[in-house]
Amino acid sequence: MGSRSGAHTRALAAIDHHRDGLFELSLRIHQTPELGYEERQASTWLATFLEGAGFQVERGYRGIETAYRGDASGKGSGPAVAILAEYDALPDIGHACGHNLIAMMGVAAAIGVRAALEQVGGRVAAIGTPAEEGGGGKVALLRAGGFDDVDVAMMIHPSSRTLAGRTSLASNRVDLEFRGKAAHAAAQPDRGISALDGVIQTFNAVNAMRLTLRPDARVHGIITSGGSAANIIPEYAAAKFSVRALDRQYQQEVLKRFIACAEGAATSTGTTLNVTVHENSGYENMVPSTPISDRWAAHADELGLPVMAAAPDERMGSTDMGNVSQVIPAIHPYVAIAPEGTPGHSTVFRDAAGTPQALESALKAAKAMALAAVDVLTDRDLLESARLEFEKRRTEGVVRGRTMG
Ligand SMILES: [Zn+2]
Ligand SMILES: [Zn+2]
Repeated sequence: MGSRSGAHTRALAAIDHHRDGLFELSLRIHQTPELGYEERQASTWLATFLEGAGFQVERGYRGIETAYRGDASGKGSGPAVAILAEYDALPDIGHACGHNLIAMMGVAAAIGVRAALEQVGGRVAAIGTPAEEGGGGKVALLRAGGFDDVDVAMMIHPSSRTLAGRTSLASNRVDLEFRGKAAHAAAQPDRGISALDGVIQTFNAVNAMRLTLRPDARVHGIITSGGSAANIIPEYAAAKFSVRALDRQYQQEVLKRFIACAEGAATSTGTTLNVTVHENSGYENMVPSTPISDRWAAHADELGLPVMAAAPDERMGSTDMGNVSQVIPAIHPYVAIAPEGTPGHSTVFRDAAGTPQALESALKAAKAMALAAVDVLTDRDLLESARLEFEKRRTEGVVRGRTMG
């Protein structure tokens, strides 16, 4: 580390050159929240920005309307680095996960790497991955072969702590629908079957189950339909749940027990139950590449973005980047954009994601990602150590690797 190469300098200059446009792009996305798979404006703006910066862009990448891919190649053959962008928002509270910043960082870093490619071999792919908040855009892209021709994948997520990486929880989204029988709730309640009771008993059974779950397990849900009037026994009720744990094996065990809770609730209430485990919502636990994460952290420190040590009990959610990290070496660092302890998915975090300080910190993080990507393209030892670590994890069963997809 220490001295920067000419390729590094070019990367940083290219990002600085686009600074105002990148900030404007991030704020525009922040002010125009779109839900997963409906990010038509954001994906169009991002694809257009990349085209303007010299990328060859394919919209609707792999048949997914709001996915895109921008490519740029260097002088000679070499490895390919994918730099990912997310740009979906949350219902009601907008960009409370700060994906407007992920989008900007993805575009910025890709522009930096493209500038470096005038001197070095290899390729960069700026891939727009929709619907991270439960819709699994990366899961869909992986299934469609969207990452087949890249060697390494990178993205950065905003947070209240700057970290080189941390693990994430394996997860599934599950929808429950209970059906009963409507009747007058005062005159003929005995003729009715309450679908809402099916939902409520599920929550009660899940809450009882928590006592015997491992501390890393998370089962949480909302009621999306609970009837339409107090004087009608509800004939339909529905709930949405997330079921998560640190590893897929235990998560599947918890999922099985969760479904048993719902089935028991249906039996005890006389309702019928329909369970839907969403296909693209099967998020794998994130296993970050150590050598490349460390390289990002070293560059971030040098750029004046101090990186903290991850705590053993670091708080975590789930991400479909976990699925990518299971098939190729991948990194998913975090950049602090809000005071430490600010919860994600909150209005405070949403407001922070649109501040000048957030943009400045995110730009530094993006520069560090560009430099780390240049290193992957130019430093054979770095890519080799990332591959060796991945291979070792694959034989140990920690990750799956491409072939076992
Ligand atoms: Zn989120
Ligand atoms: Zn997020």
